[in-house]
Amino acid sequence: MTIGDLLDGEFLTDSLVIISHLLKKDKAWVLSHLDDPIEKAVANEIKKLIAKRKNGYPLAYIIRKKEFMGLDFYLEEGVFIPRPETETLVQFAIEYIKDHGIKTAAEIGCGSGAISVSLAYYTKINIYATDISKKAANITIKNAKKHRIDAFVNVKQGKFLEPFENVLNNIELVISNPPYVEPEYELPKESHYEPKNAFFYGSSSLDFYREFKKRYGGKNWIVIMEFSGKSDDKNELKRLFHEVNFIKDLDGVERFFIGRV
Ligand code: SAM
Ligand code: GLN
Repeated sequence: MTIGDLLDGEFLTDSLVIISHLLKKDKAWVLSHLDDPIEKAVANEIKKLIAKRKNGYPLAYIIRKKEFMGLDFYLEEGVFIPRPETETLVQFAIEYIKDHGIKTAAEIGCGSGAISVSLAYYTKINIYATDISKKAANITIKNAKKHRIDAFVNVKQGKFLEPFENVLNNIELVISNPPYVEPEYELPKESHYEPKNAFFYGSSSLDFYREFKKRYGGKNWIVIMEFSGKSDDKNELKRLFHEVNFIKDLDGVERFFIGRV
């Protein structure tokens, strides 16, 4: 058996990524060694992972990483895979932080750390980050260390900003990509391997924002968050927060908002 025999016609890109990951060589190397023989045990492992991928298992969990904002994030099953659309939210926040001289921010639901680690990396401000998942909190710490900005990112497991009650007065801005999927929505197959807590909160796409407002209304923080993009939800967000403006994703859909709580 050769390396080339393992490339799967239907899943060409992903099989190439899996082969290159298992052989610890880059894709160009793999493509220029297609006729090289490959050890049976390694070939079997690669075949197993390609079959798993074809069955809907996310590539990011197989190779244990996902690129976000030009940075590689370490990932494991059980932690939400950062989505490319969230980069628009982060880019907007970076501009806002720079334009307004923000020094301290917080993130609720940090997952792999995609948002907090990129914000700290590109702005060097202090960030308090929480996640209800212990695994997510640990992976955010790992990613902050990987990108050498762990001095700027303070991560704790907990709900909302409960672990940081004693520093709430220092916070100027809160960012989040919270769970906002309708409870009855059937997630695509790939998302079945991600934690339910990343998608669903309470009994509607707005319960997270309502609870956030209940807890922190009057704090006068700037809030920058992702939401469902539904027009009914926009009306409710305008009622919940002050000075709300919506921000479009790259497809032109208003998926993010900035406001004050
Ligand atoms: N920020 C990451 C990103 O954008 O890739 C992860 C976003 S994921 C959609 C939502 C995250 O919020 C999950 O990691 C979930 O565990 C966490 N979460 C859900 N409810 C929470 C709550 N009440 N307090 C803190 N974290 C929460
Ligand atoms: N954008 C996510 C999706 O793929 C939704 C995650 C969330 O609820 N924040 O459906």
